[in-house]
Amino acid sequence: MISKDEILEIFDKYNKDEITIATLGSHTALHILKGAKLEGFSTVCITMKGRDVPYKRFKVADKFIYVDKFSDIKNEEIQEKLRKLNAIVVPHGSFIAYCGLDNVENNFLVPMFGNRKILRWESERGLEGKLLREAGLRVPKKYESPEDIDTTVIVKFPGARGGRGYFIASSTEEFYKKAEDLKKRGILTDEDIANAHIEEYVVGTNFCIHYFYSPLKDEVELMGMDKRYESNIDGLVRIPAKDQLEMNINPSYVITGNIPVVIRESLLPQVFEMGDKLVAKAKELVPPGMIGPFCLQSLCNENLELVVFEMSARIDGGTNSFMNGSAYSFLYNGEPLSMGQRIAREIKMALQLDMVDKIIS
Ligand code: AMP
Ligand code: AMP
Repeated sequence: MISKDEILEIFDKYNKDEITIATLGSHTALHILKGAKLEGFSTVCITMKGRDVPYKRFKVADKFIYVDKFSDIKNEEIQEKLRKLNAIVVPHGSFIAYCGLDNVENNFLVPMFGNRKILRWESERGLEGKLLREAGLRVPKKYESPEDIDTTVIVKFPGARGGRGYFIASSTEEFYKKAEDLKKRGILTDEDIANAHIEEYVVGTNFCIHYFYSPLKDEVELMGMDKRYESNIDGLVRIPAKDQLEMNINPSYVITGNIPVVIRESLLPQVFEMGDKLVAKAKELVPPGMIGPFCLQSLCNENLELVVFEMSARIDGGTNSFMNGSAYSFLYNGEPLSMGQRIAREIKMALQLDMVDKIIS
């Protein structure tokens, strides 16, 4: 694991008047870079031919670093370019996927916004569950084996294919029948089925809650909320039940977009309590804890309980639903504020207060 001291040593050599905010051109790069520009930083987008279009058209990047393939971002040559630009990297879902978690932890010697140690806690289900449970948040009931299924469950599979191959089952027999069917179609392997993650299907409304923890202010801010727009499930539900039965289509839960949403106001105390609890427990389990953006993906059941089925320990893709500010981020200063700009503002404040050691790793 790269130590904080190694990173601070690198940062000490930076020209503090010429800090560049850098990220990989994908995921949430548009508002990360736009937000940085609005706060007066120069910006660099790491990209490859064919993927640079949005960043050029929307003019959010002052510079581009081209790689042949995204996984090259871990290369020493790219790291060197970033350090020469006095870059602070904002890690997002795609950055971590392409760089590789091991490289983020052990090889990527460029200052990053946030706590790089906590990223593993979102990607390993065991650690994620531990953090959520010990923080005292409600999570769906987990099933160790298909033999134990006694209610309607959602069956999930790891890996980069997102929600493809997920299915719903209400009994052990149905689990094996559907798993076999997906195997025959080439969607699942025996290994996938053996490693299936089985949890209670929560019938409720989706709220993906985007928080920002400021170590400088020691406060958890509610920045926005989205709900997911997933294929093919969101298309499937537009087909009348009778036709659905005839079509015999397997659902999938592949993220294709996000829809901004606000929550019933009387649920906000619960929302803040969840964010505060998570931040407190993360400080204890993975010091210095959750720094900057994080997301709790939840379902609100009919008893008005928010059940958390997933967590992002960094900026989540759903923040794209409020690039021009959300109903909530507006409330803080009466201005449209994106998550990207909020991050840049924290970096700016840390530079002014000479407290950058509190926000990078
Ligand atoms: P995930 O891969 O965990 O982000 O889940 C993808 C999608 O599956 C979510 O956005 C929900 O639409 C659905 N989903 C995940 N977990 C549950 C659950 N426990 N109950 C109901 N729906 C779920
Ligand atoms: P991409 O950069 O589009 O390849 O996305 C990488 C991963 O980030 C995806 O597999 C998703 O898990 C997540 N992701 C990307 N875009 C979004 C989004 N708009 N909302 C939620 N998650 C997203």
